[in-house]
Amino acid sequence: MGIALDKVAINQATTREQWDFRQSVEGYRRHGVPWLALWRDKVAEIGLKEAVRIIANSGIKVSGYNRLGAFADPHDRAVVRSETLAVFDEAEALGAPCVLYFPGDFRLFAKELGDARRRLGELVFDIAEITREHRCRLALEPLHPMLAADRSPLNTLAQANDLCDMVEGVGVVIDVYHLWWDPALDAEIARCGKDRLLGFHVSDWRVPTRDLVFDRAMMGDGVIDIPHIRQQVERAGYMGPVEVEIFSREWWQRDPDEVIEIAVQRCGRCV
Ligand code: ZN
Repeated sequence: MGIALDKVAINQATTREQWDFRQSVEGYRRHGVPWLALWRDKVAEIGLKEAVRIIANSGIKVSGYNRLGAFADPHDRAVVRSETLAVFDEAEALGAPCVLYFPGDFRLFAKELGDARRRLGELVFDIAEITREHRCRLALEPLHPMLAADRSPLNTLAQANDLCDMVEGVGVVIDVYHLWWDPALDAEIARCGKDRLLGFHVSDWRVPTRDLVFDRAMMGDGVIDIPHIRQQVERAGYMGPVEVEIFSREWWQRDPDEVIEIAVQRCGRCV
């Protein structure tokens, strides 16, 4: 049980309230963390050019770029196209292997959830077409069904796999927080196969959960069997980093160095 430090990635959201772009890169590096996942708003604060420079000088590798979407109007093809190209160009400049797509409220797509899911599929197809020339890949991250109304109508790995079957080049990110409850999870992870697995995110499910979005627990403080899910992901061929992604009002109040120290320790014991 547990992973070595060279497999650990920290998502910038984990310390987003304490550290700006530069502080987070320096902070993770100070703790020997070799990977990080970036956020577009943090990059925007400092400017793309400076962000690229800081990453290049840090020796730290980028595991993913957050994020494309939500589009105010997913049916506006011109805006979807220009925004998608902008985000993918940034991601490639920063050395990110994938861009995470965030659909947002399903009513942006359609009045009815089933229709919204179909239209989301069409949009994913369009985005894949738009980004055909990019090395960087589009990553679909199914979000927990409690977020189906206001954050994403993509809620199971089966749904994401169905989309990947239809749209070439698109991959998935497995986030234990969003998917741990699914009885089909092991089978769907096996169905992904190596090529489709673009990331693996960890945190834990706190009982009771006090907030639908901002109450993720540190690995080991909740009820998710993270080592089991990691084994399935690795059995399917995933060899990339394990990304700590903790959106938590509680952890955002802690000393960020302490947060990273504990996250690294827990990666070694509870993941
Ligand atoms: Zn995630």
